[in-house]
Amino acid sequence: MKIIQEHQKCIGCGSCAAVCPKYWQISSDGKSQVIGSKVNSKGNYELEVEKIGCNQEAADICPVQCIRIVC
Ligand code: SF4
Repeated sequence: MKIIQEHQKCIGCGSCAAVCPKYWQISSDGKSQVIGSKVNSKGNYELEVEKIGCNQEAADICPVQCIRIVC
């Protein structure tokens, strides 16, 4: 499965990093990113993972709904 973040929508609130620090951190532009992710052709950040881990909590808590889990 993939974790996808529409990076431009992120407001840098830090909630994802608070509930899921194994995968999320605030980057130098003040927005969060998935640790180890790549930028895809649409300009979104994505990371392939085997298990969802705490990413569902991160997606659920995001106030601008910019985190998606694609199976
Ligand atoms: S919870 Fe959403 S808006 Fe807040 S830092 Fe994470 S991705 Fe950005």
